[in-house]
Amino acid sequence: MVLSRGSMHLSLKKLLNHVERLEGFVYESSVLTSKPAMIEIRLRPDQRKSGKCSRCRRPARGYDRLRERRFQFVPLWGLTTYFIYAPRRLECPRCGIHVEHLPWALGKRPVTVSFAWFLASWAKLLTWQEVSQRFGTSWESVFRSVEMAVLWGRAHLNLAGIFAIGVDEIYWQKGQFLTLVYQINDGMKRLLFVIEGREEKSLRQFFIWLGEERSAAIQFVCSDMWKPYLNVIAKHAVNAVNILDRYHIAAKMNKALDEVRAKETRALASRARARGAKVVLKHSRWCLLKRPERLTDHQAVKLKELLSCNLQTIRAYLLKEEFQFFWEYVSPVWAAKFMDQWCRKVMRSRIDPMNKIARMLRSHRPLILNWFQARGQISLGAVEGLNNKLKASIRKSYGFRTSYAMKIVLYHKLGRLPEPQFTHRFC
Ligand SMILES: [Zn+2]
Repeated sequence: MVLSRGSMHLSLKKLLNHVERLEGFVYESSVLTSKPAMIEIRLRPDQRKSGKCSRCRRPARGYDRLRERRFQFVPLWGLTTYFIYAPRRLECPRCGIHVEHLPWALGKRPVTVSFAWFLASWAKLLTWQEVSQRFGTSWESVFRSVEMAVLWGRAHLNLAGIFAIGVDEIYWQKGQFLTLVYQINDGMKRLLFVIEGREEKSLRQFFIWLGEERSAAIQFVCSDMWKPYLNVIAKHAVNAVNILDRYHIAAKMNKALDEVRAKETRALASRARARGAKVVLKHSRWCLLKRPERLTDHQAVKLKELLSCNLQTIRAYLLKEEFQFFWEYVSPVWAAKFMDQWCRKVMRSRIDPMNKIARMLRSHRPLILNWFQARGQISLGAVEGLNNKLKASIRKSYGFRTSYAMKIVLYHKLGRLPEPQFTHRFC
């Protein structure tokens, strides 16, 4: 479909009016400069219309004119492009003398609304540094643009139909944690809320933000075994089934296994040192391959050592692997039986970090079994998936010192925020 056909060529004015028609203003002239190469587009008021007061947005009489201001626009053909306009001051009968409303501007910022949204959309794909370099603007300008997109999106968020949420925490920096709340409905997974800390008051902020009615409509909450979270969930999500997440349990088991291995490695090393041996596991191969009766005295001691030490790591590993079967059960009754047996076995193993896991599972038994109730109704892998995405975003945002900037990044990338309707999208 042909939108416009000029006598010879399509004019810049025609194009601008197509992508960005500005009610009450006229694209007057444009120049292409060299060194630096850029396009400057001058605007003037439309004589037939009076300006609008920036306070009340009603038409008002002109008072005087201010100096020209420059507003960076979306680059045209890769050339940095500016709008240039000398704003009028108006004499509003209600508000007094004020600068007129400029529909393309963002307050005092030297960029146009279109350019800010343009930067914000690129910032979803590239780092802020890359965006600022690529489009000839400052890091600060990209930050402000993303912030604008996030504030707009958060203000226009549709919170209807949230019935499943996931609560997670991440270590951020210098002993600081962030609490994150995700929506994990099938078909709608997004970051809903980020807040500093991981105390009761952190998560409580989320429920206050969501409101009592919507909190009561939540049916499932996936969370860690972290006591402050459990307390707040029980109090605010009154109708929800709290599910202890498979992913969180797996993470704890891996940590326990790692502890066992590390402790064992240390023990091996110190025993070797005490005997004056250099490398712990070197030359141990034959101890394990030879028939025990054919070992020298020295090798026999070494084998005993390996078995007593290494076995813990191996046993812990096998126990962890065995627990995977738990999630395969269909019936929660049989799953519960399996879990109880597994816990007894672990307690007998006397492997300290694993014992801790067993005690933890026992004390949260009903919450863990809720997993079987939720399966098939909500997307149970969602928290893990979102957590991975989030960690990737944090890695890319290296150098963000304030939690405010970090929150802006996370909402921007994972919040699925709505955007205003534009007549034209530049990207
Ligand atoms: Zn006014």
